Amino acid sequence: MNLHEYQGKFLFAQYNLPVSKGKVIFNASDAEDACNEIGGSKWVVKAQVHAGGRGKAGGVELIDSAELATKFAEKWLGKRLVTYQTDENGQLVNSILIEECTDISKELYLSAVIDRDSQKIVFIGSSEGGVNIEDVAKNSPEKIIYQGIDLDNLNNQEDAISIAKVLRLDDVQTKQFIPMIENLLRLFVEKDLCLLEINPLVINKNGDLHCLDAKINIDSNALYRQPDLQEMYDETQEDPQEAEAAKSDLSYVSLDGNIGCMVNGAGLAMGTMDTIKFFGGNPANFLDVGGTATQERVTKAFKIILKDPEVKVVLVNIFGGIVRCDLIAEGVVAAIKEVDIKIPVVVRLEGNNADLGANILSEANISIHSINDLEEAANKAVELAK
Ligand code: GDP
Ligand code: MG
Repeated sequence: MNLHEYQGKFLFAQYNLPVSKGKVIFNASDAEDACNEIGGSKWVVKAQVHAGGRGKAGGVELIDSAELATKFAEKWLGKRLVTYQTDENGQLVNSILIEECTDISKELYLSAVIDRDSQKIVFIGSSEGGVNIEDVAKNSPEKIIYQGIDLDNLNNQEDAISIAKVLRLDDVQTKQFIPMIENLLRLFVEKDLCLLEINPLVINKNGDLHCLDAKINIDSNALYRQPDLQEMYDETQEDPQEAEAAKSDLSYVSLDGNIGCMVNGAGLAMGTMDTIKFFGGNPANFLDVGGTATQERVTKAFKIILKDPEVKVVLVNIFGGIVRCDLIAEGVVAAIKEVDIKIPVVVRLEGNNADLGANILSEANISIHSINDLEEAANKAVELAK
C-alpha cells in the first residue's frame, strides 16, 4: 500500500527525521489560512498523488503569496495529474500539501528497499538526486551506491558512513546522517515497509540535511498489525477494479489485453497467462480467486472482469485440489446465469471430480466452451478474442 507524501512526512516527523513545516488541505478555501499558519513569505505547494514526477508535470510550485496557493489548489483539486509515472488518465488530486519553502544548496537521493537475495534492507544513495534521478541511473550508474545493512548489528555505523561518503557529506552532515539512517531503519522495520524514498534529500542553505519528498510503500500483508497506517489508505489512488477486488479478498491486477482470466492459485494464474501469451493472445488481467473458488467468489470475479470494456472473452481455469470440480462447475454455471454474460466463456476444470464437473457444464443450459485441456482451452480463448 502506498502513502501520500504528507502521510509519509507525518511518519518521518514521528521518527525525528527533518521535514518542513507544512499543512495538508482538501479545500482551496483553506489554502490562505494554511499559509498564514505556516508563516514566512515563500511556500511550496504540492499536489498529492500516488506517483512521482509531479515536479516536471506542474504538480509542484514555489509561490510567494497566499493567493497563489489558493489558485494552485483551485487549479488542481478534483483534477487528474498526469506524470511520466502514471498512465494517460493520471491520478486524482484530492489534497494539496503546503510547506514552507526550503532554500536548497544540493539535492541528493536516498531510498531503502528489501533485497530478498541478501535478506537485507538495502539503502540506495546518490549525490545526484532530484527530478532527474532516472537519467543518473541510466547514464552514470557509478554515481549510485547500494549498501546492504546488517540488521543484527545496528550499532555499527560503518554502513551509514559508506553511504555518507558517496553522498559527499561533510563531517557535520555525516554526524546528522548516522542517526538519520538509524531512524529510517527503525521506521522501515517497525512499520513493515517495502520501500521508502527521499528524493530529494537536500542540503539546505544552512548546510543541514532535510527531507523534501517522501515516498513510502507498506507491505499489505502486514497491514493487520498497522491499524494507524491502514487508515491512511486512499482508495481514489487505486485502479477501481483492483480496489473492488481487494475488498472481496481477490488478487486482481488489471493488464492491457482482452482475455479475462479467472484462475485459482497465483502460480496457476501465472501459468495461464503464459499459455495465453504462448498462443499469441493477451491477458486482460491477473486474477486469483484463491483456494476456495465458491460460487460467491466466482460470481464476484466475473463481475470484476466484465467491468473491463476491453475484455472480449473469459477463460476460466480452475484446478480442483481441495475443492471438488463438480461443486466448482455448479458455482460457475450459477455465476454465469446470475451475471448474464454476453461474451464467450471458455471453462477448463481439472482435478478432483473433473469428469463430473464437465458433465454439469455440458448439461447446463448456458453457452460456454468446456475444454479439459489447458493448451486447447487457451488456444480457443485466443481465437475467440480475435
Ligand atoms: P516529485 O517531482 O513528484 O518527485 O516531487 P518533489 O517533492 O520531489 O518535488 C520536485 C522538485 O521540486 C524537487 O526536486 C525540488 O527541486 C523542488 N522542490 C520541492 N520542494 C521544494 C522546496 O521547499 N524548495 C525548493 N527550492 N524546491 C523544492
Ligand atoms: Mg521527488
